[in-house]
Amino acid sequence: MKRRVQLAFGSAIVILLVVGAVSYRGLFLSSESDRWVRHSHEVLENLDHLVADMERIESSDRGFALTGEVVYLESYRASAVSAGQDAAAVRDLTKDNPEQQLQLPALEEVMTQKMRLGDVVIGLRRTKGVGAAAEAIGSGRGQRIMADYLGLVSKIQNEELRLLSLRNVESNRRRAQTKAILLFGTVLGVLIAAGAGWIVSRDIVARGLAEEAFREGEERFRNLANNISQLAWMADEKGSIFWYNQRWFDYSGTTLEEMAGWGWQKIHHPDHVQRVVDKISQCFQNGEIWEDTFPLRDRDGNYRWFLSQAVPIRDSEGKVMRWFGTNTDISVRMEAERHLAQMESRYRGLLEAAPDAIVVVNPAGKIVLFNVQAEKQFGYIRDELVGQEVTNIIPEGFAERLIADGNRSASEALTQQIGAGIELSGRRKDGTEFPIEIMLSPLESTDGVLVTAAIRDITERRRSEEHLVKTVWELKRSNDELQQFAYVSSHDLQEPLRMVSSYTQLLAKRYKGRLDSDADEFIAFAVDGCNRMQGLIQDLLAYSRAGTSERELRKVPSESALRKALTNLRIMIKQSGAVVTHDALPTVRADETQLTQVFQNLVGNAIKYRRAEDPRVHVSAARNGGNEWTFSVGDNGLGIDPQYFERIFVLFQRLHGRDEFEGTGIGLAICKKIVERQGGRIWVESQPEKGSTFYFALPEIEGE
Ligand code: ADP
Repeated sequence: MKRRVQLAFGSAIVILLVVGAVSYRGLFLSSESDRWVRHSHEVLENLDHLVADMERIESSDRGFALTGEVVYLESYRASAVSAGQDAAAVRDLTKDNPEQQLQLPALEEVMTQKMRLGDVVIGLRRTKGVGAAAEAIGSGRGQRIMADYLGLVSKIQNEELRLLSLRNVESNRRRAQTKAILLFGTVLGVLIAAGAGWIVSRDIVARGLAEEAFREGEERFRNLANNISQLAWMADEKGSIFWYNQRWFDYSGTTLEEMAGWGWQKIHHPDHVQRVVDKISQCFQNGEIWEDTFPLRDRDGNYRWFLSQAVPIRDSEGKVMRWFGTNTDISVRMEAERHLAQMESRYRGLLEAAPDAIVVVNPAGKIVLFNVQAEKQFGYIRDELVGQEVTNIIPEGFAERLIADGNRSASEALTQQIGAGIELSGRRKDGTEFPIEIMLSPLESTDGVLVTAAIRDITERRRSEEHLVKTVWELKRSNDELQQFAYVSSHDLQEPLRMVSSYTQLLAKRYKGRLDSDADEFIAFAVDGCNRMQGLIQDLLAYSRAGTSERELRKVPSESALRKALTNLRIMIKQSGAVVTHDALPTVRADETQLTQVFQNLVGNAIKYRRAEDPRVHVSAARNGGNEWTFSVGDNGLGIDPQYFERIFVLFQRLHGRDEFEGTGIGLAICKKIVERQGGRIWVESQPEKGSTFYFALPEIEGE
């Protein structure tokens, strides 16, 4: 629009200039032709003078001839001089016209003849008087010369008149032309100016409407901006702020007077204000969108961080008219981000120090962290793998699942996998595979959900597991073989042993005192050995039976089992003078014979390992919290050093020599085997010289 107006005015000026120049030239040319017209008039005037001069010469010549008065003579002379001057002037004025110049010598010749005739007349008057002079005049010669003269003058005059008429035509033409140009140029200029004026006025109206619309828009924006949660403001095209929303004043506790223009710097932090001013000034200058982050002081003097943006509002021609800006409080977000960053760095530190290989994978399946252990396990240097696909080190299908889970944002699937190791095989850089256990956990981070995989090389574990399985199997086999052997051998040994034993006893009975004393002693050793061997074999048999018994467990009133045991021990009890007491005992699920055996062994030991005083043994049972019954057999005997608490339950382990107490070291091992077979435990509490209490716990019968 502006350009159109400029163009219109510009062309109007150019046209006026052209018109001016053309008409100036027209004027110049017409004044030139006027000059020629004037020139013609001058020539004609001089010709008239010449005629007048000649007439005066003739009349004064005649006057003198008739009167002889000197006055005529003087007039004659003056006219002669004037005629000469005028003739010279005509010559000069007609220099440009050769036609006229051609006539001049004849004219001068006639003039000279006339003068000569005049002089003759004057001479005659003086010398011969009036008559002679009048006769000379009357001869008619003077009239002829005059007629010639007038003829010549009129020739020149006619030529000049012809020129004059030509010049008049030319001059009129020029004038008319100039007039026409002037008229046309003025009309055109006025038209263009009027057109431009119309465009301008139309534009002014349009601009007025646009401005009104703009103001309305601005008003609406203000209303809106007063109701948003951000601080907002408006600046003019140069960046001078003239309006802030209410929130700005509420936040900063300032007024528009303080803040107007560039006053906003007052609530900026001194460390940031210069940078902010520089940047925003540059944006205002270049009309670029502005964005910056900085702290602003609130009404209480505390600073909060804001993300600030401003956009230019342009008119239809792209000229910036206003700037609209907002400041969004991002303190909380920044705090959270900083926190997260700290967490992340701590977390990273932790991962680096972890004893397992740790690989962190981003939602795109790319490795973002690879700790030292991972380098060791997979044989890569971290730089080789960070940023690469995780499928480089773990099987394809699994990696995809892992990524899919990660993408599901801390998905349930992944959460379920936390803590549950998944065993699969990892791939080293050299292509070899090895068993790994992998544990996953999701980690929300700024880059989305990362999957953290803790990876453990379980090659060793697998190996020892395999080893263990093998060992257990072998152990079981050798145990089975041993039991088989123990049973078979003790069973089969009994028969020959019984024979040896009965014959040695027979030998002792029959030949005691009949051989020498040495023989008696030898026989006694043999009998003793046989007895001990029988005891041992019986115990071994009992031990192997405890392991091989396949009888079912039944409900057994433990009291009756104890009673049977005491019956078996009656001789021992009698001989030792022991007092065995017991509380009410519960019914338990057990093998009665074996429970009897346990009681018998424990009570037997309690009596056997006694001190000088009479042994007192007490059997009781208590229900403990773990759904089981705990039986106890307490004595007042020798007691046991705590360091042997475990060892005494091992087969053939004895704390006392054969000379002190008889025994095979099998009793407690049998007890242990029986109790454990029935799902229970056995242990001892004791203090040397203060007595011991053996405990064994058996599971309670369900529902009782
Ligand atoms: P044995 O009695 O045949 O030697 P046991 O297996 O029954 O074998 O006992 C192992 C050892 O535990 C005994 O040799 C004895 O030293 C010790 N012992 C067992 N019961 C008692 C007890 N009530 N008081 C002291 N020592 C005991």
